[in-house]
Amino acid sequence: MSGEYTGEFSGPYECRRCGFETQATVRATGRRTWTPRAPHESSERGAGAESADAVAEVVASRTLMFVRCPRCHRRDPSAFIYQLQVILGALLAGGGAFALSFLGMIKLASGVSSYMLPVALVAGATTCLGVWWTYRRAWVAVDDRVRLSSPES
Ligand SMILES: [Zn+2]
Repeated sequence: MSGEYTGEFSGPYECRRCGFETQATVRATGRRTWTPRAPHESSERGAGAESADAVAEVVASRTLMFVRCPRCHRRDPSAFIYQLQVILGALLAGGGAFALSFLGMIKLASGVSSYMLPVALVAGATTCLGVWWTYRRAWVAVDDRVRLSSPES
């Protein structure tokens, strides 16, 4: 209906720093991506919901990167790199949207007008925030969404 899916996923957690291993359960929400639907998908039952739960599963596996290890209390070193990629990706997408809308308006109006810069800036900022908002799901409220099964001792 809303194109959103929240589910629990479980999988192995392994600390990249100290090698600690356990089972993890992650709650994650996925939203259907607004790309044109592939023809073969439309024939399947609830195609939108299906891709939303596929997205949720990806979010869940990324979330595990942001879990602090219960033994050494450190995080996967790739978590920081992932965040950096998201920030750079958001800036690039925003810059692209800014340039495209600015050039598009110049082409349409065959000239530059004063309203174009602010409109293009808004388009760029919206795109940038949209990308950031979509991907930040992986590291928001990690502690609330992840349960690690207690280590046997
Ligand atoms: Zn560890």
